[in-house]
Amino acid sequence: MRKELRKAIIAGNWKMNKTRPEAATLINEIKPLMQNNGCEVVVCVPFTALVAAVEAVKDTGIRVGAQNVHFEASGAFTGEISAAMLKEIGAEYVIIGHSERRQYFGETDETVNKRTKSALSGGLIPIVCVGELLWEREANITEEVVSRQIKLAFAGIDAADAAKIVIAYEPVWAIGTGVTATNEQAQEACKLIRDRLAALYGKPVADSVTIQYGGSMNAANAAELLAKEDVDGGLIGGASLKAADFGVIIKAAAS
Ligand code: PEP
Repeated sequence: MRKELRKAIIAGNWKMNKTRPEAATLINEIKPLMQNNGCEVVVCVPFTALVAAVEAVKDTGIRVGAQNVHFEASGAFTGEISAAMLKEIGAEYVIIGHSERRQYFGETDETVNKRTKSALSGGLIPIVCVGELLWEREANITEEVVSRQIKLAFAGIDAADAAKIVIAYEPVWAIGTGVTATNEQAQEACKLIRDRLAALYGKPVADSVTIQYGGSMNAANAAELLAKEDVDGGLIGGASLKAADFGVIIKAAAS
């Protein structure tokens, strides 16, 4: 009902895959599959492939994103990359708080909040990932977990900036497992997130925020998931590495 108020965004999370030439090849395969004006398409590539990706997407409408950003502007943070560095390269989006970063690299709700603020002040669009673990769903605390993640990720962020953020609801048990949330589970969680945003910032802001579903979205299930009222797009891992499958998902979002 309110889908017309927000942008549909399909973003590929390539994770730790693709060298520079491989990235250019995949983008060249995606190019002819773009649908005019229907939705925004983003490829979130490894840091090392950012320059090649920015070059390859020229004049295509495809946007480029990174998969992480540090929260400080510069200094003694060996191995880290700042928002200004990403912006200067030509990245427009950045994934923040992906469950793999929370699980393997000690990402917390607090660091997610700090990275989100640094992305915003650096002029990048954050794609903030939230979602419950399997045991949390089984213990019926999904609502509590996701509400906490949203509250802490948005702490200290004003309404104008909140409206710029993209949220990806990614149940951790569905990521890379081939087990997809049901359409109803995805809708319920995305609606919960929108209700939390409405409580924090009011309905107009909540209605304008793009909320994606992520977790084994693929060519076969995308259309049904994307048809749900509060599912405005997808964050796609495995299927974003296959141009044909990614193209089907883009088409589903564009219609
Ligand atoms: C992801 O990495 O964000 C993701 C959703 O992966 P997959 O689509 O492979 O489950």
